[in-house]
Amino acid sequence: QFITLDGIDGAGKSTNLAFIRQWFERHGLPVLFTREPGGTPVGEALRGLLLDPDTQVGLRTETLLMFAARQQHLDDVILPALKKGIHVVSDRFSDATFAYQGGGRGVPLDDIAALEQWVQQGFHPDLTLLLDVPLEVSMSRIEQSREKDRFEQEQAAFFTRVRATYLQRAQAAPQRYALIDSHRDLAAVKADIEAALDRHFG
Ligand code: C5P
Repeated sequence: QFITLDGIDGAGKSTNLAFIRQWFERHGLPVLFTREPGGTPVGEALRGLLLDPDTQVGLRTETLLMFAARQQHLDDVILPALKKGIHVVSDRFSDATFAYQGGGRGVPLDDIAALEQWVQQGFHPDLTLLLDVPLEVSMSRIEQSREKDRFEQEQAAFFTRVRATYLQRAQAAPQRYALIDSHRDLAAVKADIEAALDRHFG
C-alpha cells in the first residue's frame, strides 16, 4: 500500500508521522518512510534548490522540478519497494504540487494533471492522510520556525489558496482521503490517524 501524508505547512506533519510510524511498528508491517521533494540523491539535491530562499526559479520550472524529483522517487524507491511487498509512506506527494504550485502559485490544475499522468501513468496513493488546520494556526506555526524555507516566506493569501486546493481535492475523491482535523489535542489526532489506518488495512 502507498500512503501519503500531506497538508499545509504548520499542520503538524512531523508529529503525525511519528503516530503513523508507531502504528506500523505495532502491527509489525514492513514499511518504508520517505519524503518529497526528496527521497533519492537527485531528489534531495532538487529539494535543496527548491527550498532555498535564494533560488530564483520560474513557476513552470518549479513544477517540472517537483515532477522530476517525483519521477526518480517513483522509479528508484516507491515502485520497487511496493513490488517487494513493502508498504511506503511518503511525507508529501502529488497533492502538494496541486496545492502549492497549482492553488498557491497559479499553475493551471489541468497542466499539473497532465504532468501527473505522464509521470505516474495512473499510479496514485491508496490512502492520503490530509492534515488540516485553520489558516491562523498554520501561519503562527510557520512564524515560529527559525529558518523559513522559500515557500514558508509566502503570505497568508498564498496559504489560503493552498489549503482550499487540498480541501477541494479531498472532497472530490473522499474514498482516497482521510481528512484529519489536526487542530485538536494530540490524543484525538492520534486516534483519528490510527482509525484511518485501521479502516484502510482492516
Ligand atoms: O518539510 P516540508 O514537507 O514542509 O517541506 C517541503 C516544503 O516544500 C514545504 O514548504 C512545501 O510547502 C513545499 N512544497 C511545495 N510543493 C510541493 C512539495 C513541497 O511547494 N510539491
